[in-house]
Amino acid sequence: MTAPVDLRSDTVTRPTPAMLRAMAAAPLGDDVYGEDPTVRRLEELAAERVGKEAALFVPTGTMGNQVAVLTHTRRGDEAVVDVASHIYDAEVGGLALLGGVQARPLESRAGRLLPAQIEAAVRADDVHYPHTGLLCLENPHNAGGGTVALPEEVAALCAVAHQRGIPVHLDGARIFNGAVALGVPAAALAAPADSVMFCLSKGLCCPVGSLVAGPAAWIAQARRMRKLLGGGMRQAGVLAAAGIVALDTMVGRLAEDHAHARRLAEGLAELPGLRIDLPTVQTNMVFVDTDLPADHVCHELAARGVLAGAVGRNRIRFVTHKDVSAAGIESALREASRTVAGW
Ligand SMILES: *Cc1c(COP(=O)(O)O)cnc(C)c1O
Repeated sequence: MTAPVDLRSDTVTRPTPAMLRAMAAAPLGDDVYGEDPTVRRLEELAAERVGKEAALFVPTGTMGNQVAVLTHTRRGDEAVVDVASHIYDAEVGGLALLGGVQARPLESRAGRLLPAQIEAAVRADDVHYPHTGLLCLENPHNAGGGTVALPEEVAALCAVAHQRGIPVHLDGARIFNGAVALGVPAAALAAPADSVMFCLSKGLCCPVGSLVAGPAAWIAQARRMRKLLGGGMRQAGVLAAAGIVALDTMVGRLAEDHAHARRLAEGLAELPGLRIDLPTVQTNMVFVDTDLPADHVCHELAARGVLAGAVGRNRIRFVTHKDVSAAGIESALREASRTVAGW
């Protein structure tokens, strides 16, 4: 029995030998005292890569997003969000529960919001209304298919908020996938937003970790919010060391994951009973609509050694990553074709 081809998520990636070596050798200190040199190095490097003044190392992307919300808003504010965004849909109601922030969800198309939608959602100054305190964007857009908005599209959305004095937080969990897909620096995607979060623990293959970046004074306040949420870590350099290796050596190879996703999508699209919107396959994700219930299809695929995630009644997500080779993709296609042949 060979190991399954695990296409559920890029979070399943294991750290590389270079990461494990760096982790073992990292100089450490107590980061709550600001004394961990490896965390400091990672934070400086991260800030530089996304073009912000400063950055903050956090254990998870979810904590990074919630720290950003707490830092940007006041209780009772309204945040304009995409209804299909991670920050609204997949963070346990943290906006309301932690921040006391009411969400104003907007419908996007394949992860695309339009400036006019944001314009219409921003509250007028009226005694009845909450104050619009934040615009949250997500790029690449996970539920939208891993789709990437261009820097100028992001800038147009941010401009609407900024004209009204509203800050923008960008959930860029996979910002480097977006950057590689477009052939632009990650900083170009992050530039129009006030703050950005990205994950080390996904396609970049770190065992743990995400970063939030923004203006230095804002990051100083975010550091307090991280402490509040229990995210003040001590010798966290042991984790940050892997992040430095990731930013230095693991970004370019994301192109391979994107090529694998493209190959997988084109192969799956030929199978009866499966439908794929091929133009939305832009990074390392393939969303497939199924005639049969998604749970059932995933179960059959798993029995053949191919793991994918049911993300809706009739929708399955496949995510490519470092630990699935070109041969793994071919094997997934072969097994999917056998599965479909049995229907
Ligand atoms: C994974 C993800 C997150 C959260 O990251 P965790 O480290 O899993 O908490 C946030 N936003 C998006 C778009 C994601 O894909």
